[in-house]
Amino acid sequence: MNEKVSTNAPLGKGADHSITALGERLAAIRAAMARACERSGRAPESVHLLAVSKTWPADNVVQAALAEQTAFGENYLQEALAKIETVHDRLGRALEWHFIGPLQSNKTAEVARHFDWVHSVDRLKIARRLSAQRPAQLSPLSVCVQINISAEASKAGCLPQDAQALCEAVTGLPGLRLRGLMCIPRAVDDAQAARPAFRRLRELAEAIRAAGSVDTRNFDTLSMGMSKDFEVAIEEGATCIRVGSAIFGARNPK
Ligand SMILES: *Cc1c(COP(=O)(O)O)cnc(C)c1O
Repeated sequence: MNEKVSTNAPLGKGADHSITALGERLAAIRAAMARACERSGRAPESVHLLAVSKTWPADNVVQAALAEQTAFGENYLQEALAKIETVHDRLGRALEWHFIGPLQSNKTAEVARHFDWVHSVDRLKIARRLSAQRPAQLSPLSVCVQINISAEASKAGCLPQDAQALCEAVTGLPGLRLRGLMCIPRAVDDAQAARPAFRRLRELAEAIRAAGSVDTRNFDTLSMGMSKDFEVAIEEGATCIRVGSAIFGARNPK
C-alpha cells in the first residue's frame, strides 16, 4: 500500500499505463465502493470517488487520470494551483478540482477562479467572498457546508445547530450552488466507530431538506468517508468519498 508509485513512465506513444500499482489500487477501491453500495441497496453510480492528491506531484494525478479518475481533491492552495496548471498542460483536458482544506479569506479569490467545488465552507463570510469572486463566465461553484459533526473544540466546521441557518444564507448567493454537507469525524482506529457521526451528518442533511428553506434541487451531496472508513460512510449514505492514501500511498511529509 505504501510504496510510491513510479512517476517516470513515459507518457508518449506506446506507453502502457494499464497496469500500474496506482491503477490497481483505484480499481480495488471502485470494487469496494460497488460492494458497499450493493450491501446497502444503493445504486453504484450514486457514490463518487474524489481522489485526494494533496502532497503528491502532478505525475501521480496524470497517472490517475489515465486510469479514468476525473475528480481530485486538494488542501493547499499554492500546491494545487501549480498542479492544476501542470496537469492541464500534460493531459490537454480539464479535470474536476475540489478544494477540501481549511479556507481563509485571503485564499477565496484563487479558489473561486480555479476550482469546481469547495467542500470546506464553514462560515458566511467565506461563502460571500466565493460568491462575489466566482468569475461570471464560469458555471456556479459547487459548495458543501463543512460540519463539525463531533463538535470538537479544535475542529473546523460549522456546529450542527448552526447548519440550517448557514445553508439558508448560502443557498441564495449568486455564483454558488449549495450541494450539501461535508464532515471529517474525529479520528478513530475502527472504521465502525465513525458510523454514528456519518449517520448524524445524513440526518442533519435530511432535516435541512425537510425544513424547505434551502434550494434542494442541487442539495444532493454528503461528502464523508476517507481511506479507512469510506465503506462505512457509503453504508450511511455518502455520495462523495474523499480518498487519498489508499490511492496514492502514504503521504509525502510536507
Ligand atoms: C487528506 C484528506 C482526505 C484523505 O485522507 P486519507 O485518509 O488519505 O484518505 C480526505 N478529506 C480531507 C478533508 C483531507 O484533508
